Amino acid sequence: MSFKSLGLIPELLEAVSKQGYTTPSLIQEKTIPIILEGRDVLASAQTGTGKTAGFTLPLLQKLDATRKQRHRPIRALILTPTRELAAQVHENVREYSAFLNIKSTVIFGGVNAKPQIKTIRGGIDILVATPGRLLDLENQRALSLGRVEILVLDEADRMLDMGFLRDIKKVISLMPKQRQNLLFSATFSKDIKKLAQGLLNRPVLIEAEPENTTAEKVNQKTYRVDKGDKVEVAIKLIADGNWKQVLVFTRTKHRANKLSEKLVKAGISSAAIHGNKSQGARTKALAGFKSGKIRVLVATDIAARGLDIPLLPHVINFELPNIPEDYVHRIGRTGRAGASGEAISLVEVDEKEYLRDIEKLLGEKLPSEVVEGFEPTDKPSGKKPQQGGGGNRNNSRKSRPQNNSNKKSGGGNNNRNRNRNKRRD
Ligand code: AMP
Repeated sequence: MSFKSLGLIPELLEAVSKQGYTTPSLIQEKTIPIILEGRDVLASAQTGTGKTAGFTLPLLQKLDATRKQRHRPIRALILTPTRELAAQVHENVREYSAFLNIKSTVIFGGVNAKPQIKTIRGGIDILVATPGRLLDLENQRALSLGRVEILVLDEADRMLDMGFLRDIKKVISLMPKQRQNLLFSATFSKDIKKLAQGLLNRPVLIEAEPENTTAEKVNQKTYRVDKGDKVEVAIKLIADGNWKQVLVFTRTKHRANKLSEKLVKAGISSAAIHGNKSQGARTKALAGFKSGKIRVLVATDIAARGLDIPLLPHVINFELPNIPEDYVHRIGRTGRAGASGEAISLVEVDEKEYLRDIEKLLGEKLPSEVVEGFEPTDKPSGKKPQQGGGGNRNNSRKSRPQNNSNKKSGGGNNNRNRNRNKRRD
C-alpha cells in the first residue's frame, strides 16, 4: 500500500515524502479514503499510530479541492485537549500543507491572544485550537465558526477527562449543521459514545492498534524498590546505561519538579514539564529535550499527552499511574516509528495494587526484578501513594475511589467511568 494508491494529490505526496514517510500507517490506510469520501469517522487511535496525518492529509485535500480564491473563512477546526498537542498538530498541518495554498494557525491559552487574533483576521483555512481559548476569541468576535466544513476532535477522551464537554457542545452549536465530523479517541467510554451519537452522522468506525502495541516492541520491566531509593535507582539506571534521552513519569507536578532538580544536582541535565509551567517553559523544555540538550524530561501524564517525540528509546515510570490506561499511553512514547524501546517501572510496595491493575489491563504479568544494592525492605504502609492531580482543570480526574483498595477485580474501569461523569460541566 502506498500513499499514492490512497488517492492523495501530488502536493500531499510530495509533503509526505519530504517527511520521510514511505508507507501509510494502518490508521492512515483506513481513514484517508473514508475521509476523502466525505464520511464522518469515529476512530480509535492513540498517539503514535500516525493518526494526525490520518486526518490532516485528506482534510487538506478536501479543502484544496474546493478553495475559493479570495475569502478565507475558517473551514476546518481541529480541537485538541492540550496546548502541546495543539502546537504539534499544527506543526504537522503546516508540514503537510507546505505545497498547497492553505493557511493555518493554532490558538491556545496561557499566551498573549493578540497575535493569534491578528493572524486569524488575516484569513486562515484551518484552525487548530484548545476549547477554552477558542471560545474566548469567539466571544470577543475575533473569529467565526459559521463556515466550518470539517470538525476534528482529537483525543476526545482526554477532552472529556479534562472537563471540556460543555465547551465542546458550545463550539458545536456555533458551527453549521451540515459538516463532516471526525472523532479520534484512544478509549471508548460511555461518555465518548454519547458524544459520538450526538455529533456524528452515520460514522464509519475505524480501529487501529498502535503500531507499537506494548507487547511487541517495547521491552517492559519493573523493579521493586523502596520509595526512598527511587531517585538513586533512577540516576543509576540513566548513568550506568548511559541513556541519552529519557522520559520519566511522575504522578504529581511537585514530584516532577523535585526529581528534575535532583537529577540536575547529580549532573544529569533535566527539565520538568507539567500543567503549572508556562507555555514558554514547556516549549523550551520540549525543544531542549528533542535537540538532545536536555537528557531527561520529567513529565506528568497530562503534560506528556500528545507530545511528539520520535524514536524515544527509554521511558521510566518513576511512579506508576493510578489509572491503568495512562500506563499504556506512557509506554506508547517508546519505540515509535518502528524503533524498539524500553520501559522501566520503579514500583514501591504501596504501588503494588496499581501494578496489578495495569497487568490486568495488559493481560500479562510484567517481569519483576530488583536492582543490586537496592533490595527493597519497606513494608506496606496501608496507605495509598499520593495521587496525581493531572489536568489543571479538574483534579478529580485522577481520584481513585477508596473502596477499590481490596483485591476485587474489575472495579477500576467502572469506577473510573463513574468518576468521569463528575466533570467540570
Ligand atoms: P501521531 O500518532 O500522529 O502522533 O504520529 C506519530 C509519529 O509518527 C509522528 O512522529 C509522525 O511524524 C510519524 N508518522 C506519521 N505517519 C507516518 C508514516 N506513514 N510513516 C512514518 N512515520 C509516520
